[in-house]
Amino acid sequence: MLYKSTRDSAVQVSAAQAITQGISKEGGLFVPESLPRLGSADIEAFAALGYVERAAHILRAFLTDFTEEELAACVNGAYAAGKFSAPDVAHLSKVGAKMFLLELWHGPTCAFKDMALQLLPHLLTVSARKTVKDKKIIILVATSGDTGKAALEGFKDVDGTGILVFYPEDGVSPMQKLQMTTQEGGNVNVCAIAGNFDDAQNGVKRIFTDAQIAETLARHDMVFSSANSINWGRLVPQIVYYISAYADLVKEGEIANGETINVVVPTGNFGNILAAYYAKCMGLPIGKLICASNANNVLTDFINTGVYDRNRAFHTTISPSMDILISSNLERLLYALSGCDDAKVRGWFDSLAKEGRYEVDASVKEKLTADFVGGFCDDAATKATIKALFDKYGYLCDTHTAVAVRVYEDYVAKTGDETKTVIASTASPFKFSSSVLSALTGDTSGLDEFEMVDKLAEVSGCEIPAPLADLRGRDVRFTQCCEKDDMKRVVWEMLGIQA
Ligand SMILES: *Cc1c(COP(=O)(O)O)cnc(C)c1O
Repeated sequence: MLYKSTRDSAVQVSAAQAITQGISKEGGLFVPESLPRLGSADIEAFAALGYVERAAHILRAFLTDFTEEELAACVNGAYAAGKFSAPDVAHLSKVGAKMFLLELWHGPTCAFKDMALQLLPHLLTVSARKTVKDKKIIILVATSGDTGKAALEGFKDVDGTGILVFYPEDGVSPMQKLQMTTQEGGNVNVCAIAGNFDDAQNGVKRIFTDAQIAETLARHDMVFSSANSINWGRLVPQIVYYISAYADLVKEGEIANGETINVVVPTGNFGNILAAYYAKCMGLPIGKLICASNANNVLTDFINTGVYDRNRAFHTTISPSMDILISSNLERLLYALSGCDDAKVRGWFDSLAKEGRYEVDASVKEKLTADFVGGFCDDAATKATIKALFDKYGYLCDTHTAVAVRVYEDYVAKTGDETKTVIASTASPFKFSSSVLSALTGDTSGLDEFEMVDKLAEVSGCEIPAPLADLRGRDVRFTQCCEKDDMKRVVWEMLGIQA
């Protein structure tokens, strides 16, 4: 299987190249030239397998330049027993008669990013062996919280790699900050920047594209790579859990093999829901893909009108991982819906860069609304949903998942659609204790972070995830904070290079 670029269909690279490179030279994203097919016999077979075997089967069809041994080592390294606290890795919880919450947060950092970032380091080291030989790979990350920690956990002590994470000093939650500043591992580094997430991201992008920096790195046998969700190596692991969830529903007799389900995803950068779309295109019986947003509802408007317009106020919400106005992975969807029309995609993204907006044509819009439904809710509705779900079913969810549940409920109220539905649950409620606790009790005054965590456990009867409980009393290793114009110097310092 070869991969082409959304901005130049003539580009052809192997999976290993796509994963090592991260993004195509002309700025496009790598997509598979075709999608493997999945039939009901495959689902039947998957129902009898565990997550590791299911993942190996599905990845094999995409990563055709990996050997069986390489694939087995990758999936075992990521998902073998003990890596995730749920024995089935991606755990389905039935809530009510038709709603199934796919809990993707039982990994080491308690957010769904682990599903991909536990596997990516394995995929990347195998890919690098095939493409850049003995060079050391330096992963550079700008994070607003979850990606940085998940990447640190994924890459810590991985041979032949180093990882540097920059986060905005005041732009992450106290728990997220503590997760990063206490990170263990001999090849990790973390630095705050005096600025916001955009400053961190722009700084990282500047370093990535600086030819002089690349040259200096090359002289030291190093190359940069990316761990964010534009990398194909982060998308492909996400296709696995939708197929796996369907196989579990069949296995548990909740649906017949072949029965249509709907999928709801709390969406930011459009990676998670795109993986569900690919699973649908492969043949998984998915009806509607319901894209849930918070007050940053640029995607809701896009799905409803065909106009993508980022010229709007940015809202800071209680579901911060979805506070985003440019959803990078939408580019891959538009490439598919336009019939792989790279010229059209270039036009739309030029227009986005220049004017902050674009409008797709009628045929793309028609295809978009055939598969996708968009909805959003604000912080008050998010909190009300956390409380209602807990009061009615005794089920505690985080703020991001609550957005998805609310948008799903609105959809059902409007359409009467009774289809069984899988809702992606993307973080542990204990990662956002302040918002979740105040949703339940109305008051968190006077409590520090861990007092809120304890109180939430007491009020809900839910167990505090071990990776978060373990942070209490941990030594802080990384205290450095740099100016946003000083990131380059910090990179050299952390790599021990005299530039
Ligand atoms: C990253 C993240 C999302 C958004 O996922 P995308 O793939 O970027 O759409 C939603 N919820 C949580 C908790 C996240 O960390």
